[in-house]
Amino acid sequence: MTGHVYKSTGSWYTVKTDLGTFYQCRIKGKFRLKGIKSTNPIAVGDVVDFELETYNDETTGLIHTIHDRKNYIVRKSVNLSKQTHVIASNIDQVFLLVTINNPPTFTSFIDRFLVTSEAYSVKTILLFNKLDTYDESAMDEVKYLAHVYRKIGYECIGISAATGKNIDKVKTLMKGKVSMFAGHSGVGKSTLVNAIEPELDLKTKEISEQHMQGQHTTTFAEMFDLSFEAKIIDTPGIKGFGIVDMDKEEVGDYFPEIFELKKDCKFNNCLHIEEPKCAVKEALDKDELAFSRYRSYVQIIQGDDENYRTENWEN
Ligand code: GDP
Ligand code: ZN
Repeated sequence: MTGHVYKSTGSWYTVKTDLGTFYQCRIKGKFRLKGIKSTNPIAVGDVVDFELETYNDETTGLIHTIHDRKNYIVRKSVNLSKQTHVIASNIDQVFLLVTINNPPTFTSFIDRFLVTSEAYSVKTILLFNKLDTYDESAMDEVKYLAHVYRKIGYECIGISAATGKNIDKVKTLMKGKVSMFAGHSGVGKSTLVNAIEPELDLKTKEISEQHMQGQHTTTFAEMFDLSFEAKIIDTPGIKGFGIVDMDKEEVGDYFPEIFELKKDCKFNNCLHIEEPKCAVKEALDKDELAFSRYRSYVQIIQGDDENYRTENWEN
């Protein structure tokens, strides 16, 4: 039998079959995942094979196989430096909510988010929220940012979770897919989910507040079916995708425009800082590469990411 993991609470997994039946499953024997050093062998979003067993009229499942993951996101456990916790897998897309004010979302945050999502092969769509509250200069900023990110391949939509503007567009993109919502606290994630599916009460906020008090409590992601053939994975208290350990040389690969440009740099190990005949610097001089993107790139390779490591990713 094959199913999709909707929820995990340590040793039990809630698995839904293609026919729509939910089973409580455990893992058969000792079970390790190739190549993934994680504290949890199975995560929400995994597709698993299991067999049923019945004891005293109660039927549960035993998971014996996990299908290859298309992608997965992790959270690094702070105490066990090499151990990671897989938050979720097989994510089709993440909607990153961005607001110009209340709270401000800085490009450094957006770019770091995009770098990690590229590294994890998770598609990101930018949603500029709270459009109903912006004055002309804030709207200009939305237009400028949408221009910057569209140019390098990211879909951008201006929305208002409060008035419902363009929510239909978001729903259309969600149909038939597994989506997640991310962004700073206060950008409107709960309001948006509520606008999309009023019946679903995720209580994201309350849970994340509990998490703040309990420092490193485990995050329980959960998948939900929406009424219009869409699924969402709710990850209370998680704003980003943990931390990817990458070499300096690798960072440029996750900036799509730098990845394209660097093919024309004189040195193939060019870091685009002070090297001569650097195509990235030339593009920057010609305004073909956005300065904010280059600045984010430099901050990441120079390891100027204390905030990012300690604060930005979790509420
Ligand atoms: P979350 O922390 O990302 O889940 O943010 P919330 O959904 O709790 O929203 C934070 C605050 O912003 C709440 O007071 C919402 O009512 C408000 N809010 C969210 N979206 C919009 C919007 O599009 N327009 C306006 N005016 N307020 C919004
Ligand atoms: Zn270069």
